[in-house]
Amino acid sequence: MTGQSFAGELRIDLAAISDNVRRLDELAGSAGVMAVVKAGGYGHGLVPSALAALRGGATWLGVAQLSEALELRAAGLTCPVLSWLHAPGADFAAAVREDVDLAVSAPWGLEAVAEAARAVGRAARVHVKVDTGLGRNGVLHGPALTSLLDRTRALEAEGSVRVVGMMQHFAYADAPDHPEVRAQVVRFDAAVAEAEAAGCRLEVRHLANSAATLTNPSLAYDLVRPGLAVYGLSPVPSLGDHEHDGLTPAMTWSAPLAQVKDVPAGQGISYGHTYRTERATRVGIVPVGYADGVPRAGSGVGPLWVAGSRHTVAGRVCMDQLVVDLGPGSGAREGDPCVLFGPGTQGEPTAQDWAEAIGTISYELITRVGDRVPRRYVGGEPAWHLA
Ligand SMILES: *Cc1c(COP(=O)(O)O)cnc(C)c1O
Repeated sequence: MTGQSFAGELRIDLAAISDNVRRLDELAGSAGVMAVVKAGGYGHGLVPSALAALRGGATWLGVAQLSEALELRAAGLTCPVLSWLHAPGADFAAAVREDVDLAVSAPWGLEAVAEAARAVGRAARVHVKVDTGLGRNGVLHGPALTSLLDRTRALEAEGSVRVVGMMQHFAYADAPDHPEVRAQVVRFDAAVAEAEAAGCRLEVRHLANSAATLTNPSLAYDLVRPGLAVYGLSPVPSLGDHEHDGLTPAMTWSAPLAQVKDVPAGQGISYGHTYRTERATRVGIVPVGYADGVPRAGSGVGPLWVAGSRHTVAGRVCMDQLVVDLGPGSGAREGDPCVLFGPGTQGEPTAQDWAEAIGTISYELITRVGDRVPRRYVGGEPAWHLA
């Protein structure tokens, strides 16, 4: 950290990530844990999160994009890594060279992976990603899957591809009791049986996201694939908060008050004066804004924590700053931290509180903090060469 930025600080508790993974590993029983570290470790930093997850007992890492998998390899991580969302032009040859497992969701992907494997001269390790009902990426169960599996037979015979895994993703991440969950599992089991009948020797069958890992141990199969829970937030807040799940949020976002000043009653605050002081009061200027990832939808509703008490964003969130009405006679001083969200242990809001205030999910809050906010790692070594 350079100390040059005033856009606050994103404090990442790596010990919390390790502890959360330990907890998930316990819940997974004999299944392994593939910690999902896509999107820069859900905003916590790709490599530091990956290392912390491995210290907590994860044996696999999962990412959405190949560039993330290659970054993990470049950092010296040698554990199994799976990348699952690709578009034509993806550098599958680099993936095969770097021993990255690849999910295949479509015929074009299977052919491109096989071609890369031929060029490199080594079989690619493939996980078939089945769309069992999510209606998103993945080969649709039924005839499309059957024809993809037919083709894998030929490619396995020529030695360019080995189908080592099969995966699916749930549509109801936040409603584990929804009947569609069961329906997807039935389709997944049928897909696994079909792959095995087609001669695939599956090493890992994996379908459980955070919600399934936390709520339904019977879905652990060979590997669970939690993301959000690794970072300590509840994927199903309606059933219980992170504490109920035995998790600790790893991210705390704070920024120092840049200015504290007294304003009269009736003072309009920030663009459009959507907030007007009812009495003479003291306001604080917080030097983070929507360019840093504070949702503009937090205008007038986003929770804040300053000098030991809860406040709400006063008026509009701007690009670089927001305002907090501290109340008359507030003892808050310039330089005091304003916490946007954290683990909640001191009374500060959590990312879940923000999500509820603006009508979104905590995933969105933690993954959107901008590069201008310096990351500070505590509770473990963030880099391999120091580990
Ligand atoms: C993001 C993702 C996960 C993790 O989901 P969480 O709800 O964060 O646990 C698992 N599997 C796939 C395919 C994903 O895209």
